[in-house]
Amino acid sequence: MRKEERFRRVLAYFMETLPAPRTELSYINPYELAVAVMLSAQCTDKRVNQITPGFFGKYPDVGSLAAAREEDVFELIRICSYPNNKTRHLIGMARQVMAQYGGILPDTASELQKLPGIGRKTAHVLVSVLFNEPVLAVDTHVFRVSARIGLTTGAKTSLDAERQLVRYIPRDMIHKAHHWLILHGRYVCHARNPKCAECGIRSHCRFFSTGRIPPVRKR
Ligand code: SF4
Repeated sequence: MRKEERFRRVLAYFMETLPAPRTELSYINPYELAVAVMLSAQCTDKRVNQITPGFFGKYPDVGSLAAAREEDVFELIRICSYPNNKTRHLIGMARQVMAQYGGILPDTASELQKLPGIGRKTAHVLVSVLFNEPVLAVDTHVFRVSARIGLTTGAKTSLDAERQLVRYIPRDMIHKAHHWLILHGRYVCHARNPKCAECGIRSHCRFFSTGRIPPVRKR
């Protein structure tokens, strides 16, 4: 199957079955989403959603987080993975937003990436979810699922996969594609034991038709 055709079929399936995908992280404003996405690195959304109500009860905005003590933040997020690093990054992010952006989170990926703890992936999640920007965040699910389906070929890095994907996904679908591929990886195309028998895109999937598992990712 030609790549254009594979993309067309896969996107049509997602568009029909999940026309308005959303993040599973709970948030009510850009600050809360930034904190939730930062916490979600190497951690499940479910666990992050257990942490954030208490976190936002104590630190409801950037200013309160900027004034926080490390030990207090650590205590609130300790059930998350890498709580030490995340504590430093969260406070550092808030202090820099207060000092350089007047307490308002920047609204471009390039500015967001200047903040502590916010890399390309996190910045792309933020601007695509908040502003429907046509940028794609490639996490471990997106990387794996795209390679298996055959949307990417031989990608060695997240950036490589991102470039291959955005080349074929229409601009107005890019912000949705991130969620589609994550959710498909989370609930159907698991890292171990993908549920191919009940997968709605198996007839468009390279792995399903060839039985060849793409090489494991090199980070
Ligand atoms: S057919 Fe299997 S490998 Fe392909 S996308 Fe579906 S679950 Fe994943």
